[in-house]
Amino acid sequence: MRNAGLLAAKMRRAKWRLQAHGGPQFINQGYCYSCNRLVNFVATGAWWRDDYLCDHCHSIPRERAVMYCIEKFFPEWREKVIHETSPGSRATSLRLEAESQNYIATQYFPDAVFGEIHQGYRNEDLKSLTFDDASIDLHVSQDVFEHVFDPAQAFREIARTLKPGGMHIFTTPLVNKNKPTQWCAQLRPDGSIEHLIDPPEYHGNPVSSEGSLVTVHWGYDITKFILDACGLFTDVIYIDALEYGIRAEYIEVLITRKPPPSG
Ligand SMILES: [Zn+2]
Repeated sequence: MRNAGLLAAKMRRAKWRLQAHGGPQFINQGYCYSCNRLVNFVATGAWWRDDYLCDHCHSIPRERAVMYCIEKFFPEWREKVIHETSPGSRATSLRLEAESQNYIATQYFPDAVFGEIHQGYRNEDLKSLTFDDASIDLHVSQDVFEHVFDPAQAFREIARTLKPGGMHIFTTPLVNKNKPTQWCAQLRPDGSIEHLIDPPEYHGNPVSSEGSLVTVHWGYDITKFILDACGLFTDVIYIDALEYGIRAEYIEVLITRKPPPSG
């Protein structure tokens, strides 16, 4: 299994948190969309975005929220062409891979050839995908778009490669909420990075020990940003459903739709 070591390390940390806090803070039974079964959801700490885990697949709330939305808004996903950029090593990504007939997992390796398999993944740059126009039914991304340097171009590529009637179902933390989107880092013309917040912010990255630089703090105005970038409308779905283990901060799911063929 890809990144098994990373998953083991995460579970060790979860166990450590449980022990450090003297036991789970909260447990409830429910249905986990990420692993498609009845499970216990266990809050191992106070920050439920990272600490409210499925005891079977170890998913976190945003992963379950993405799978909920795929099932609800794109129920024919198993028969369709799915592209997931920077997939996770558990939960929703594994379910999509296991159950769909045409699931393409990609990662970004800037020094390798794009469109070819590298380290078990197809190598793709979101700013310049090698997929044909109108070739993908469903793009999936989980907490990727806060790390992209040119998200407008990436959204244009998503729109270009979607088939009519297709969707991009994704999460990216809308940490600025009603405040305008704020840029945190950008590329200078010479390719060097200009940091716009101090200190720079990094998130964990399964294929890089350096972590992923946060380039943008999105607000709810991301929907207008996407419309301006590529002409497609986006819905923001907020789910609070303990019975599905979906409760936490910053777990909105965004759904960008390419209109179906007319007539
Ligand atoms: Zn699960």
